[in-house]
Amino acid sequence: MKAVLFHRHGGPETLEYADFPAPEPGPGEVLVKLHAAALNRMDLLVRAGWPGLKLELPHIPGADGAGEVAALGAGVTDLSVGERVVINANLGCGRCDFCLAGRDNMCRNWHLLGETVRGTYAEFVVLPVRQLFRLPDGFDYHAAAAAALVYQTAWHSLIKRGELRPGETVLIVGASGGVNTASIQIAKLAGARVLVVGSDAKKLSLAESLGADVLIDRSKEENWSKAVYKLTARKGVDVVVDNVGVTFPLSFRALRKGGRLLTVGNTGGPKFEIDNRYVFAKHISILGSTMGTLQDFAEVMTLVVGGKLKPVVDKTFPLAEARAAHERMERNEQLGKITLSIP
Ligand code: ZN
Repeated sequence: MKAVLFHRHGGPETLEYADFPAPEPGPGEVLVKLHAAALNRMDLLVRAGWPGLKLELPHIPGADGAGEVAALGAGVTDLSVGERVVINANLGCGRCDFCLAGRDNMCRNWHLLGETVRGTYAEFVVLPVRQLFRLPDGFDYHAAAAAALVYQTAWHSLIKRGELRPGETVLIVGASGGVNTASIQIAKLAGARVLVVGSDAKKLSLAESLGADVLIDRSKEENWSKAVYKLTARKGVDVVVDNVGVTFPLSFRALRKGGRLLTVGNTGGPKFEIDNRYVFAKHISILGSTMGTLQDFAEVMTLVVGGKLKPVVDKTFPLAEARAAHERMERNEQLGKITLSIP
């Protein structure tokens, strides 16, 4: 099969469009012929590598994908060949105490497709049948692939960890990334008032089109926590979604007493300083999570295919041009998700 892979860690130039043996489905597994894959920032981090990361090389990146069932392993009866599916990249073992309790994103032997195992920048991928969600006829493969990872992540964080309730105010730090665009829509669907702080007018107009109620341009309001305070009658917000990290100090200031800070990542880097006095004096809860459970995935993808949540696709590149797609993401030019079209 054709795939995009790398033999060594480094920049986008390490990505090669090459031949690689197609995988075969074992018992309980399904071979999926991919039509679309979507990029995540994680793909760039895995390609660049980090100390301690040990991958079987060559590695095929990619967590998100959608396509059709091409073959079934022994014992698979829930799907048939030709059915359209989207992939859940959150790979629980299915056997540990967390998985058996339905908390598979906390699995003791957790893997993420495209991170620790070969992923979706390829014509075919093999997955356990429980990782697949059936798509209705006519639902766009690119929209499905664009939704899979970020919507389950935002759903788990806002609804399950954050227990967001109707009437609450939510501040989302960042306007245009995949998790943030998903968070804006999910918060609105949950009945919250949504404030978004973004880096420029173009990204904020995307946030507005997704339902954001209040827009704060940080190119004009450097100390945006002050603006948030004014916009909430000096109360602060109930919830902040902060996946930047270095912005925690401003997020703490923007929160009301007893508020919750939700985080699923750190696009600004993993290490930063916080002033702990804010945490205890304001009774702030910091709630971290990663990905979602199989149940979260089913819940949120049902809303996506039902049209209640609408994934934003930025730009689509042919699989062979994955390098250009990575370069676009590295330049932070995208509005929504970048996808790959797989022949
Ligand atoms: Zn497990």
